[in-house]
Amino acid sequence: MKQLLMRSAFAVAALGLCAATSAAGLIPEPNANAVPYATQANPETLVLDASTAGRGFATSTMEIPVRPGPFTFVYPQWIPGYHAPHGPLADVSQIKVSANGQPLAWHRDKVDMYAFHVMVPQGVDSIKVQFTVLLNGGTSRRASPNVAVLTWTRVLFYQNDINYHHYYLKASVILPKGWGYSTALTTESRAGERVNFKEEPLNYVGDSPLFIGRYYKKVLLWHHGDAHMWLDMFADAPQDLDVPAKIIDAYKNVPAEAFALYGSRHWYNYHALLSLSNKISFEGVEHHQSSDNRAPADFMTNPTAQLVMGDLVTHEFSHSWNGKYRRPWDLTTDNYQIPQRTDLLWVYEGMNQYLGDLLSFRAGIRKPSLYPQYLAAIYTQMATEPGRDTTPLIDLTTGAPYYYDQGRGQYPSIRRGAGDFYTEGELLWLDVDTIIREKTHGKKSLDTFLHLYSAPKLTGPVTKTYTRAQIEHLLNEVVPYNWHAFFQRHVYEIAKLPPTGELKRSGWRLVYTAKPNPFTKAVAGMFHMDSQWLTYGFNIGRNGALTDVREGSPAWKAGMAPGMKIEAVNGQSFTPKVLNYMMVQAEHHAQPTKFEVSQDGWFHTIWVSYFGGPRYPHLVRIPGTVNMLAKIMAPHAKH
Ligand SMILES: [Zn+2]
Repeated sequence: MKQLLMRSAFAVAALGLCAATSAAGLIPEPNANAVPYATQANPETLVLDASTAGRGFATSTMEIPVRPGPFTFVYPQWIPGYHAPHGPLADVSQIKVSANGQPLAWHRDKVDMYAFHVMVPQGVDSIKVQFTVLLNGGTSRRASPNVAVLTWTRVLFYQNDINYHHYYLKASVILPKGWGYSTALTTESRAGERVNFKEEPLNYVGDSPLFIGRYYKKVLLWHHGDAHMWLDMFADAPQDLDVPAKIIDAYKNVPAEAFALYGSRHWYNYHALLSLSNKISFEGVEHHQSSDNRAPADFMTNPTAQLVMGDLVTHEFSHSWNGKYRRPWDLTTDNYQIPQRTDLLWVYEGMNQYLGDLLSFRAGIRKPSLYPQYLAAIYTQMATEPGRDTTPLIDLTTGAPYYYDQGRGQYPSIRRGAGDFYTEGELLWLDVDTIIREKTHGKKSLDTFLHLYSAPKLTGPVTKTYTRAQIEHLLNEVVPYNWHAFFQRHVYEIAKLPPTGELKRSGWRLVYTAKPNPFTKAVAGMFHMDSQWLTYGFNIGRNGALTDVREGSPAWKAGMAPGMKIEAVNGQSFTPKVLNYMMVQAEHHAQPTKFEVSQDGWFHTIWVSYFGGPRYPHLVRIPGTVNMLAKIMAPHAKH
């Protein structure tokens, strides 16, 4: 999964559990041992009428195999990739159940609201269940008049307590007239607008989202024998599919760079599904043979969008190896109702944040020479966060289901958020990479570890679990080092600073200058925000609304708070340019800056004592050292 961060000094498109070393099985699991009535020969069938997707809803009709007597069907709650029990129950409406054409009474469980009970009459071997699913409910919009992102886990009920590797589902979709579709599922037949897919185990169908749309373009990025990788784009406007050849060429480098990085493949045909729409919320969700990427309309045509969010597709693609093939043991479950433990997300998402970025630079989606400036920005973001004095990374991963909601609250820098184990994870795994490179004099790297981690070279989409101890053991095979103490220090205990050794070890030094950092600048432009985290100590929207104030900063000491709006600076109406001018003035004249702010209808004057001038982070080379970052981010595959 991907996090879009827009809070601290820098917004990173990041945008996917402590008992990790204890033996699997110690945590009691809910039952996944019920006999599945839906078999390959007699699967549950699901027909999704998505002909109304452009109007924001679809209708799902299922035939669920049953036996007479009490029967419980459930709605998926813990969806792999989301790391939270967020199955969107509130988007389910108009539930109707019948057996042999007769309505059947149902009631919801009083404790587990994802479960529904019926009494199946004698002589009945399947029940029909129908409901309407709202596509744009809650906080995340999934359908526009021209594109819809459909995921089967949102549109189905299934038998309670089964193991979803052994429960079969046969899915069909009815498309809006003239729309195209793309999915990792195998198309078995098509009649008019109805497409029937081959029956598959439920876990695989649930892992295979379906993108549909009026305007689409499918680009073959790579093929070898029967194996293919596609980039399937669905846009609100046809002109957003006119992607410059240079950008497409960079995406064509991605598969070869991933094979060089991992030395293996665990999929047969892979579809990177990509919506290009300003109506559909930004998102990235990993799957084994596909990925669900939702980006702004100009994502593939605007070079700045590629600079800011260019790791979206590479991050999700990398998850096919790291997250889908290799997965934390306690995050791996047998159905959607069993809670997932998220503590090891510092490997699953933290390492993937590094690898997704690394692939975007190696493939040329972003210029490798820019990585040091990117690193300066994310290091500074993590190093200046007050919440790290009390909250270790392990609490952020263990509490991930709640920390993912941090964007909705105030003072996210005090509370910290799920984005931190992505961003800090990148620093952590870059640190690991540079330690391996230094200790082996450049002969080995994190790539060496990843080849072991993702062995053997070729399998289908299966899952191999890991524990923290196994990760440390594998790293020790690459190079002996006290990896347990290393992760203990940086992940499991309060760490006042993020991993820092990687900067010097890779031949670079952090400095602050008045020159804007190119990444910070691109992010500010794209998200209409202005970060003054290192100066006054606040982040503001372009309209002057404060989104966060850093504890201990000049703005904090003066009494500023999120929710205030800066109306004027030293008597002039607020604009980012005026603010910058006044900051330079304060540096030269040592006068506090006068802010007029409004807050819930009241106006205040606040004087902020900051005299340091503009400050932005940069990395500069340490003369006479090896530029390890250039080696890491250079292309590794033969193109
Ligand atoms: Zn992810």
